[in-house]
Amino acid sequence: MRNLRTTDQFVEAILRQDRAALAQGITLIESNARKHFSPAQELVKAIYPYSGKSIRIGITGVPGAGKSTFIEALGMYLCRQGHKVAVLAIDPSSTLSGGSILGDKTRMEELSKEKNAFIRPSPSQGKLGGVHRKTRETMFLCEAAGFDVIIVETVGVGQGETIVKGMVDVFLLLALTGAGDDLQGIKKGIIELADLICINKADGDNRRKAEKTKVEYEGFLHFLQPSTEGWSPTVMTCSALYNENIDELWRNIQDYEAFSKRTHAFTLKRRQQMKTWLNAMISDYLHDSFYGKEQIRERINKVEIEVVQGDCTVSEAVEQLILAYEESFK
Ligand code: GDP
Repeated sequence: MRNLRTTDQFVEAILRQDRAALAQGITLIESNARKHFSPAQELVKAIYPYSGKSIRIGITGVPGAGKSTFIEALGMYLCRQGHKVAVLAIDPSSTLSGGSILGDKTRMEELSKEKNAFIRPSPSQGKLGGVHRKTRETMFLCEAAGFDVIIVETVGVGQGETIVKGMVDVFLLLALTGAGDDLQGIKKGIIELADLICINKADGDNRRKAEKTKVEYEGFLHFLQPSTEGWSPTVMTCSALYNENIDELWRNIQDYEAFSKRTHAFTLKRRQQMKTWLNAMISDYLHDSFYGKEQIRERINKVEIEVVQGDCTVSEAVEQLILAYEESFK
């Protein structure tokens, strides 16, 4: 990264909605280089007061559910309405494998050419906590650059849903038409996270089935805890490919936003998310610090054997390891 701007220059350019500065700022945040840590955090701190003025939408769904088609349809619809839309992605599988599945697929072709849209693929490499931080901080930068709708997509399968849920105002599950009573294997836990469920591909011969699946979801939701108190998740159908019901979906998102602002759930959730983020980063830090110590790594194998053989209890073993950890600072 050459010709790096100063924090003030970055802030001024980002507020002026300069896309090159925004992209460069995000690259700085995503950098794992030690020397970029302070300038990146200075930038986040300076930008923070200008962030927050958007609706943050999380989208999940199994691969093939039509997420990219859907985001393209929704994004184009919103741009035509005068919104500025940023699309960010979280991909835990790329974190684990080191590669990004986004790279080999041209996604959202139309939206990527739209001047009021900004698409940033998932930061690959690094630990999950790091990816989490990078996406959140990127979101702040995008908001300061005037993007009033932020879409965070889970790509790949795995822990993505809870992470995305923890950084957005409204969480949308894009589902497929029924494949039996088990709602095509989507875990109950994921349905429980959703504020809105949209059955995609409700077109052609599939339309009927989609309506049936909608009723199944509605029935299933009766047995679940609502993700926001007092709000029953809306279930609807759409066709991302044929641009059907995209306007209705946006109305539903706006209804949810209005509801959660009225009941203050919106602000409370954002505050809670900051606290959760803080604690998650502390846990990450401590985890790395603990397992990064040679003294601990050497000891842990020995202690594991002792525990298995019943020579000491698990609690005693933990106590021993923590003592060794504390000793290592002396
Ligand atoms: P993702 O893996 O969830 O991002 O799914 P994609 O957006 O890549 O879509 C997977 C496939 O489903 C593609 O072939 C799309 O063209 C198709 N698809 C997406 N949305 C619709 C839809 O509303 N109707 C129909 N018939 N096909 C769709």
